[in-house]
Amino acid sequence: MNQLYVQVSPNCYDWLMQKPRQQWSRSAFRTTSQSDMFVNNHCEVFNSSLGKLRDLPIITLFRELHKAIMKRIQIRRDKMANANVIICPSAQKKLTKSMHYAGNCVVTWSGGSAYSVTCTDGGHELVVDLVKRTCSCRKWDLIGLPCYHARACIALKNEPWENYIHDCYKKDTYLQLCGNTLEPIVGPEFWEETPEPKPMPPAVKIPIGRPKKKRNKKNDFPADTTNLKRTNTKVARNR
Ligand SMILES: [Zn+2]
Repeated sequence: MNQLYVQVSPNCYDWLMQKPRQQWSRSAFRTTSQSDMFVNNHCEVFNSSLGKLRDLPIITLFRELHKAIMKRIQIRRDKMANANVIICPSAQKKLTKSMHYAGNCVVTWSGGSAYSVTCTDGGHELVVDLVKRTCSCRKWDLIGLPCYHARACIALKNEPWENYIHDCYKKDTYLQLCGNTLEPIVGPEFWEETPEPKPMPPAVKIPIGRPKKKRNKKNDFPADTTNLKRTNTKVARNR
């Protein structure tokens, strides 16, 4: 298998081999987070939800943001409370997708909690432990949702698969989380006066012309490093 990676990109292979696997291979990540997400989409979504609030003075921004989060918690809690589900829909979607591949697994078991799983599609042989909730592919360990190897073992045992889902994906946990509500805050006219001097905005030089509102993506990391800009596009004219 390593030979294949070397063929694809020897430089990239050498570069990665000099670094610990925990830094670049998802299968070697720690299992404490029970999530396989390592992108910063959450803060991007939060940033886009600010919308017009971003232009407000800092105190007004915080007050409006506080109300927006209060509303968001209430909407999410009500939506989940009315949903007829045991686990969160996003986790359910992942499980449904993985179930499709469980038919490609041949399970061998002779007692105890460990099962031998042979994949007919790739020829891999893995060990699943239903008590430890682990699989050699590491997916179950990492995200807390049984991989399709584990699903095949659970099906053989004829047990409800819901018993093997991590609590963080369950509806009850979600509702408990949304139970942590934000307390409402009174307006500034009710705030206590302090003897301290009022914070002043920092001195900034305002450049001439209309201020730019669009985000400057010049210093951002390129979204797709394989999609490079075309260069030398100038065409020489015949004179
Ligand atoms: Zn697995």
